[in-house]
Amino acid sequence: MADVPAEIDAWALALTTELEERGENLTNGSPADSDSRFAYERMGDAGIIGLGWPTELGGREMDPIDVVKMEERLGYHWLPLCGYLLSVKTIGNAVLQFGTHDLISRFIPDVAVGRIMFCQGFSEPEAGSDLASLRTKATKDGDRWIVNGTKIWTSSAEIADWMYIAVRTDPTLPRHKGLSVMLLDMHAPGVEVDVHETLGGGTFGEVRLSDVAVDVNNVLGDVNGGWKVLLGSLDYERVTSEKVGVALWVVDQLDEVAAPHHRRLLLALRGELEACRRLGHEATRLIAQGERVSRVSSTCKLSVSLAMQKAAALSVEILGPGALVERGPDARAAGRLAAFHRASASMTLAGGSCDIQRKVIAQQGLGLPR
Ligand SMILES: Cc1cc2nc3c(=O)[nH]c(=O)nc-3n(C[C@H](O)[C@H](O)[C@H](O)COP(=O)(O)OP(=O)(O)OC[C@H]3O[C@@H](n4cnc5c(N)ncnc54)[C@H](O)[C@@H]3O)c2cc1C
Repeated sequence: MADVPAEIDAWALALTTELEERGENLTNGSPADSDSRFAYERMGDAGIIGLGWPTELGGREMDPIDVVKMEERLGYHWLPLCGYLLSVKTIGNAVLQFGTHDLISRFIPDVAVGRIMFCQGFSEPEAGSDLASLRTKATKDGDRWIVNGTKIWTSSAEIADWMYIAVRTDPTLPRHKGLSVMLLDMHAPGVEVDVHETLGGGTFGEVRLSDVAVDVNNVLGDVNGGWKVLLGSLDYERVTSEKVGVALWVVDQLDEVAAPHHRRLLLALRGELEACRRLGHEATRLIAQGERVSRVSSTCKLSVSLAMQKAAALSVEILGPGALVERGPDARAAGRLAAFHRASASMTLAGGSCDIQRKVIAQQGLGLPR
């Protein structure tokens, strides 16, 4: 990664140190799962947010592949990135792609300075992999939509300002056709957030929505045309370069203590991670060209998930049970290896399950029948 400016590394290291000094918990999951509003605001202050966005919206018009390379380094340095990954990499980019001029100018400049944080409200008790079965309903009432339903697994719900939410706007249409995506104010009357702790060490929100009003101008794309918006934003989400960075950090830690036969396994894993990195760059290039990309973004997401799980298993093989000690003098790398191990299990589900990625690759990449 010699072509990523050294100052990003220095800046990220300094912020990690500052967060540790503030007593922030950097091991509540891997960097992709853990969150800090303070870190997000610092990123905004430093101009790290929206580097690829237009200058008039607060960005720097950087090449999208350079942005992805920078995200890899942020993961490598264990910055708590959940807010950034949702608000910037996924939702910010989707608002730019699908939002009206009004939505873009109302939201993007505030995201670029770290002032607005989003969460993503897709999953529901009866809708995970089969997202098109979601039941949260939005009913038109004059110049607003009235939203009722429950969202679960909502990362960062307790600290987010807005939810990027998928709702059913026309129950009479076929499942995929009656959906819309809109921006819902998390501080509006009728929004209730319960926080649940996870085995991964982090938290999830369960968000209950009772008669929550959403301005009609807050819809992304066409009303009832939400499926296209959802697929587009999942493509951004599934380019997971930050996880390549975290996994490379693990490999670097293990390399320092590994015996020669383990070094060979680590070398093979480095090769896999290099392939993941290139897949991420390829998906990013295709998205920037406006091409259909799901087969590549799903390959990217699946391969990073499997590589993370391989790195986690290798950490136990090389270090023994010590790799799983979370705190105290025996914790390796201040508990980060244990946090990584826990978080790697959730990669089977987060961002769409491994089975679903295989399905997308089979159907859209290989042209196999449904
Ligand atoms: C760390 C983490 C963070 C998350 N953050 C968010 C968030 O911020 N916002 C949000 O909306 N959601 C979030 N999720 C939820 C995530 O998107 C869902 O867990 C995922 O889509 C799977 O849905 P499910 O859990 O309901 O499992 P299910 O859909 O019930 O699947 C259960 C099992 O069945 C398999 N399966 C299901 N359907 C098929 C099929 N057609 N073919 C083959 N196998 C199938 C799955 O692969 C899985 O193994 C998060 C999840 C995790 C773990």
